[in-house]
Amino acid sequence: MRVRAGTPLQLPVFRFARFDAAAVRHGMTGRTASLPADGTVGYRDGLDRAVVDANRAAWSAAIGVDPSRWTCGRQVHGVGVAVIGPAAGCGADGRRVHGAGERVPATDALVTAEPGVPLVVFCADCVPVLLHDPKRRVVAAIHAGWRGTVADVVGTAVRAMQDHFGSDPRDLIAGLGPSIGPCCYEVGDEVIDAWNGAGIDPTGKAVRRGNGRTVFDLWQANRLALIAAGVPDDQIEVAAVCTRCHADRFFSYRARSTQPGSAAAVIALEGGEG
Ligand SMILES: [Zn+2]
Repeated sequence: MRVRAGTPLQLPVFRFARFDAAAVRHGMTGRTASLPADGTVGYRDGLDRAVVDANRAAWSAAIGVDPSRWTCGRQVHGVGVAVIGPAAGCGADGRRVHGAGERVPATDALVTAEPGVPLVVFCADCVPVLLHDPKRRVVAAIHAGWRGTVADVVGTAVRAMQDHFGSDPRDLIAGLGPSIGPCCYEVGDEVIDAWNGAGIDPTGKAVRRGNGRTVFDLWQANRLALIAAGVPDDQIEVAAVCTRCHADRFFSYRARSTQPGSAAAVIALEGGEG
């Protein structure tokens, strides 16, 4: 189907209850038959860029952000944090230039105090983490797969908010979006060794063993990393929705039976639109 400009579709945007009352626009895209290619927002071989651009525009309308100001990093499963200023914005079509590249190079976490700039991370099983400091008016979007999780990308982003904007971690609210859950995320020893080496989880709360399987609980791990960075536990909302178990509603890299695609988690401070 065609999506006409200015036609707000009823799209299944995932939202955190904690952020709804805040002065932010936010949401995570899903998988839906109402859009071409199930509403994916990730470019891939064999899929017309124009389809992806139209999907990005449709989801942006549903979330209430300007797709031309989307700001994304080139995600590398690292701990690179980019602090985004007023000139940023690769645009949803990826063509507008941020500095030297179309996306911020080697960046898995984006932070800004600039109203109206949507920070965007792409995920298909990895954990999208959104942060908001309502006092200093700062937001962050973080992509945390297992590598980013064990390297403490969320703690690194919290410290960037402290360093650049004077955020107090005790003021932050956090949301961990739909992503692969402990029901499905079986891993090898190298993952657990790396996690244990990080020193964030000395009692092993994020690791479960049984029936010959070892499971890494990315939700618990990132929650513990946020707490270690100073964010109060009761200000952290975990969606607890597994993308693999709910591959009908979300893109899952590991749910092989379904078409590939990816979702975007988006957050922007209100203001600055138009
Ligand atoms: Zn699952």
